[in-house]
Amino acid sequence: MARGARRSAWTGAGVAVAVLTGAGWTRGSLDAGDVAAAVLAVAVGGLIGGLRRSPVVAPPESTAAERHSIAEALLANIPDPVILVDRRSVVIEVNPAARALLPTLKLRHPLSFALRAPEILDGIEEVLRTGQPLKTLYATRVPTERAFEVQIGALPMPDGPMGGQPNVVLFLRDLTSARRLEAMRVDFVANASHELRTPLASLLGFIETLQGPARADAPARERFLGIMKTQALRMTRLIDDLLSLSRIELREHVAPTQDVDLGQIVRQMVDTQGPLARDRGVALAVSAPDAPYPILGDRDELLRVVENLVENAVKYGGGGTVTIALGRETPANPRKPRIVLEVRDEGPGIAPEHIPRLTERFYRVDVASSRAQGGTGLGLAIVKHIVNRHRGRLVIESAPGKGTSVRALLPEHGSETLH
Ligand code: ADP
Repeated sequence: MARGARRSAWTGAGVAVAVLTGAGWTRGSLDAGDVAAAVLAVAVGGLIGGLRRSPVVAPPESTAAERHSIAEALLANIPDPVILVDRRSVVIEVNPAARALLPTLKLRHPLSFALRAPEILDGIEEVLRTGQPLKTLYATRVPTERAFEVQIGALPMPDGPMGGQPNVVLFLRDLTSARRLEAMRVDFVANASHELRTPLASLLGFIETLQGPARADAPARERFLGIMKTQALRMTRLIDDLLSLSRIELREHVAPTQDVDLGQIVRQMVDTQGPLARDRGVALAVSAPDAPYPILGDRDELLRVVENLVENAVKYGGGGTVTIALGRETPANPRKPRIVLEVRDEGPGIAPEHIPRLTERFYRVDVASSRAQGGTGLGLAIVKHIVNRHRGRLVIESAPGKGTSVRALLPEHGSETLH
């Protein structure tokens, strides 16, 4: 197509996109009405071909070339793929996002060479036949699985060389992360319900037994009430952990601002947990030279981090000594020094295939052993979110037979100017 005609088509599409951006893109969804409004704006504005008056995008004194670059810049900055084809489905223009998605897409070549999606090609025909915009889905498997919603709308071309022959504009909206999030939400609800259902079923079972066969059996009643209390406590812990997790997630984008000393937090938690660990035959050892360890943090959240890590080391560390070490990282970037909190145990360790998944909600290496120890499967997920909120990093290292080390690397506060 001649450069001039291509420019006209592109400008028309640019205006359509400007209208669509205002209408639906910003609210995360476009509907047929948005596409229609854009198409209408182009037609009414009389922008295509003539390029004289532009009430929608550019001030009246703008030249055609200026408006063209505005349209191009607009499309280039749209993160989603936009493709313009003529009525024979030959590609007229594409934006960089479309080129990135479909590297084989070429101007003046049929769209079907690069996009083997009958539903889209049929959609284009239908839009041209009816004049009505429509939506369809497009999924890729290679190189990665992705899903797109495709908006197809006719773009009338009143004055161009193709006089009266409409083009078709395709907008692709990436649904991949929305779908992934939805799958995670469904999994999460299923997991949480399952975790609550088990102790609840056990409680109901004991209540029925106490109302029936064990009604007059005092020793059995005592024993059952003990089990019921354990189950009720388990549900309480689970709900507490779920609530903490959602509170932390809500605040994750807001970095904490309290000036805290991590050394003091470690000592406080060791004092609280020491007796409990001793009962289980575990000694807690603190190694914290070069105190203090100032960071900008949230005291309560940092207490939870130390508590969860020490609790895990005590529960799964198989006795011996649990070491809580504080130190400073030898920084790769001396302007960003980091404090390292490490909790180490001498336990049986964790096989490598589990390590990347330990911070997922409800992920446990051994579900029965975690439950027997009162675990909810949420401890490390909570730790990870707190560390993220503190703009830090969590590193888990372990090997079977070699114990486990969990390190939280947190930005040191107040020493940025020392270097
Ligand atoms: P839980 O409530 O089950 O302890 P976490 O999220 O804290 O949940 O930990 C997830 C899983 O990671 C645990 O169930 C356990 O299998 C494993 N794990 C965590 N810490 C250790 C450790 N120090 N040694 C061995 N396994 C561990």
